[in-house]
Amino acid sequence: MGTLYLVATPIGNLEDITYRAVRCLEEVELIACEDTRHSRILLEHYGIRTRTTSYHEHNKYEKAEELVAQLKQGLNIALITDAGTPGISDPGEELVRQALEAGIKVTSLPGPSAVITALSMCGLSSRRFVFEGFLPVEKKERRSALARLPQETRTIVLYEAPHRIRKTLEDLREVLGDRQIRICRELTKKYEEVMPFTISGAIAYFEENPPKGEMVVILQGMSQEDAAAMDAAKWESLSIREHVDLYMEQGLSEKDAMKKAADDRGVSKRDIYRELKV
Ligand code: SAM
Repeated sequence: MGTLYLVATPIGNLEDITYRAVRCLEEVELIACEDTRHSRILLEHYGIRTRTTSYHEHNKYEKAEELVAQLKQGLNIALITDAGTPGISDPGEELVRQALEAGIKVTSLPGPSAVITALSMCGLSSRRFVFEGFLPVEKKERRSALARLPQETRTIVLYEAPHRIRKTLEDLREVLGDRQIRICRELTKKYEEVMPFTISGAIAYFEENPPKGEMVVILQGMSQEDAAAMDAAKWESLSIREHVDLYMEQGLSEKDAMKKAADDRGVSKRDIYRELKV
C-alpha cells in the first residue's frame, strides 16, 4: 500500500515551505490539489513536475474513493490544498478519514496554517484557544455555533471570507456584546496586518473600508471574573436542593454535587447535607 502525505504549503509567501515538503512533492507519484491551477504556481516555482489531479469540496467523496483505490495499489500520494495545512477547514478531512478507514498510512508534513500564524502574532492570549473555523452559513447551525461563544473563556479563532465578514461581526456583537477583536489580514503577504479593534470598531472600519483579502478573526475570551459571575448567576436563585440537582443532572454523583454546591456557596458540605436531610 502507498502512503498518503498531507503536505502543508504556504499561506501567501512562496518561501514558507519546508525542504522536506518540496522533496516529498517531487518523490510521490501523484499530487492531489484543491485547485491544480492555483498549485501550479507553487509547483513550478520549485521545479516540481509530479503529476497532479484535483480533489476539492465538490468532488471530495467520489475522488477520495478513487485516491484510496490508487493508494491501495501502492501509489504514494501527496495532498495539498490552496493554502496551509490540509484538513484544517478544507476538504482534506474526508480523504484522511477514508484513507485511515482503508488501513492506509497517513502522515502529515507540518508547515504553515493561518490559525497558528495569526494567533502567534495577534497579541491576545494564546495560552488557551478554541478554533471554530468558518461559522456555519446555514441559519440554525450558525445560531447554535454562536450560542456556544459567550461563555467561552479561551481565545476564539475564526476563519472568514471578506464578503461575509460584516455579517459575522454584526452577529458576534449581538451575542458577545462589545469586546476586543483582532483582524489578521493577508498573513505572510506584502500587505500583512493585524488590526486591533473592538467589535464595534471593526464594524465601523469596514463601513468605510470595504473588506479585502484573506482574514483570520481572533476574539478575546470571556474574563475569568465574568465567567465566575455568570456561573454564580446560574445557581443564585436556586434552593440548595435545586442547586445540588443541577450538578447531578450534569452527571456528578450526589456526593460530588453536594461538594460543588458547598464550594459555590462558601459553606461546608455538612451544611448542605443537613439542609437536604430536613
Ligand atoms: N488549510 C488552511 C490553513 O491551514 O490555514 C485554511 C484553509 S481555509 C479554506 C482558508 C481560510 O484560511 C481563509 O478564508 C482565511 O480565513 C484563512 N487564511 C488563509 N490564508 C490566509 C492568509 N494569508 N491570511 C489570513 N488568513 C488566511
